[in-house]
Amino acid sequence: MKAITVEPSKPDSVRLEDVPEPDACNGSVLVEAIAVGLCGTDLEIVQGHYGWAPSGESRLILGHESLGRVLEPGPRGVLKTGDLVVGIVRRPDPVPCPNCAAGEWDMCQNGRYTERGIKEIHGFMSERWRIEPEYAMKIDESLGLLGVLLEPTTVVTKAWEQVMAVGNRAFWEPCTVLVTGAGPIGLLAALLGKQHGLEVHVLDRAQSGPKPDLVRSLGAGYHTGSVREVGFEPDIIIECTGDGQVVADSIRAVKAGGVVGLTGVGGGEEIDGLFGGDLATEAVLSNKVIVGCVNANKRHWYKASQALARADRSWLARLVTRREGPEHFARALEKEATDVKVVVQFSDVCD
Ligand SMILES: [Zn+2]
Repeated sequence: MKAITVEPSKPDSVRLEDVPEPDACNGSVLVEAIAVGLCGTDLEIVQGHYGWAPSGESRLILGHESLGRVLEPGPRGVLKTGDLVVGIVRRPDPVPCPNCAAGEWDMCQNGRYTERGIKEIHGFMSERWRIEPEYAMKIDESLGLLGVLLEPTTVVTKAWEQVMAVGNRAFWEPCTVLVTGAGPIGLLAALLGKQHGLEVHVLDRAQSGPKPDLVRSLGAGYHTGSVREVGFEPDIIIECTGDGQVVADSIRAVKAGGVVGLTGVGGGEEIDGLFGGDLATEAVLSNKVIVGCVNANKRHWYKASQALARADRSWLARLVTRREGPEHFARALEKEATDVKVVVQFSDVCD
């Protein structure tokens, strides 16, 4: 079968090639790939900055934002042939640490977790893939191709859960949220903000393209410029750029008692206007909390699938701005001005 593979740590080693059928050790459920979404992590792996091949192999099948249809449900009987499924990405570490033992592998303490398409397990960019039944999330059939948005939705589902848990340590009635960055993660964070019943604002550099209209269609406010210029003090900031300056400005801008949830990571850039001592002042005197969020456990996958099922299909469809066949993978990786989410499509969604 065809698969998109890469030699981790070797820039530009990505290629479409023939590989053996998926190994039974990856699970009893056999799935036909429909589509796989691309994100910044895939780009980092292709550029050689990140990623690990399975033990004893030199190449990694890429892809962690999956969508497929069950070909063989395996012996367990939970899934049926034809079900639309998305594969959970992370697997608990083998020790396991207390968090992995409790099913909260997103909070892994020893870093020995593995991840499909990223860290030591093959991903989903192959014509067929296998998965353990307990790691296959069945999704609402009516989502169709939009099920490919589930994995990024799990990331923001966890972020929202963490932010609300931290905020609720005291009496808290949040009204406003600012989301920084209007990429797929930011837009999905904004969608969940609306589902939480909050007044949602989104900040991004883009002054044209699909982002402003996507935000306004949600009933949210769209802002360009800096966090300092949004004109209100958000109760919550969901930071989705990873930009040091935006992070620093967010810590300053969030209301006293508010929470900044970080979903992106930066590159150690110099920032203007917030120093270590100021951070303590903001956190201590104004009870502000900064909480970092990575990955998702099964609870978040379930909640994300519920959130997507509730969302307006026509709005979600506007997030998938480009589909490319696997043979055009290189083109899929090239950023175009109108891109929000680009997917590699392996087969049609219809049964
Ligand atoms: Zn662990």
